[in-house]
Amino acid sequence: MQIKNLYNNKRPVISLEIFPPKQTTPINTIYDTIDGLKDLKPDFISVTYGAGGSSRDYTVEIANILKNKYNVETLAHLTCLNSTSFEIEGILNKLKVRDIENILALRGDLPSDDQNNNSNPQFEHASDLVKQIKSHDNFCIGGACYPEGHIECSSKIHDLKYLKAKVDNGLDFLITQIFFDNEMLYDFLERLDILGIKIPISAGIMPVINKKQIERITQMCGSKLTQKFKRIIGKYEHNPEALKEAGIIYATEQIIDLLSSGIDGIHLYTMNKPEVAQRIFSNISNIRSTLVNDSEIII
Ligand code: FAD
Repeated sequence: MQIKNLYNNKRPVISLEIFPPKQTTPINTIYDTIDGLKDLKPDFISVTYGAGGSSRDYTVEIANILKNKYNVETLAHLTCLNSTSFEIEGILNKLKVRDIENILALRGDLPSDDQNNNSNPQFEHASDLVKQIKSHDNFCIGGACYPEGHIECSSKIHDLKYLKAKVDNGLDFLITQIFFDNEMLYDFLERLDILGIKIPISAGIMPVINKKQIERITQMCGSKLTQKFKRIIGKYEHNPEALKEAGIIYATEQIIDLLSSGIDGIHLYTMNKPEVAQRIFSNISNIRSTLVNDSEIII
């Protein structure tokens, strides 16, 4: 099913994100992750593309396993930097023949200067990729957005202007970058509303469960930690189990607040750790069933 129809039928849409193993690891290792997540009954599971060094070649295959073996709706991430439009066309055809209808259209991260060989780019921005995907009539297209502004942007106003252009090129929904401050997200959503961006937006939540992960995230994507979270890290950084517990509870509290505010969707970055996702879902099991009942009443 196209994800835009999921949002039409039921809100909030609850989704999970996984990443493929590295190329040196057999693809089969992903089965344990999927087995641990499928019983949480997410509305869809997304599969990243080359993020964090995972293998790009596996993305289509894992999306295929989710959709056609597990019967779980899937969203295949796709980046375009350093790709030719011919290569992108090849991937779109692979997705089409496997009946995968949903794509998260991304630019991808810029490599460091010495590795940057994007000297004659066919794709400079994700909006260029959206245009190419849109030329096929069978895909539902999502895009990324950045409540705190994208890390490269010189001004938030420009970032919003480019986001609006990306949406106008044909996006059906958005997923946000990780954030830790819900109030900041609500301000961002208000700005999008004023700009006339009316497509559904899922809030990206990452349970932070160890100190190394926190450092990597804040450095890579610029998401700011709240004072509350900094205090938690300061207190428990040398006690991994306590920090993990606090990270799970922090993410749970963020989700409960977002659900209470009527958010369109929650997208949980699982980091391929089913146990963490299971603990969060167990924390909100009654809340989730209340929301399902509410949406049935609305329909
Ligand atoms: P864009 O929308 O192109 O924006 C990138 C920058 O360019 C922004 O600063 C924007 O303001 C600017 N810009 C846009 N259009 C213009 C224009 N016309 N002129 C000038 N400037 C412009 N990375 C992966 O490698 N694999 C993944 O699977 C992956 N999944 C992700 C999932 C989510 C939900 C998110 C939030 C990010 C993901 N990323 C992934 C990271 C993403 O690739 C990076 O954040 C990347 O730096 C930007 O991608 P984008 O699609 O947002 O780019």
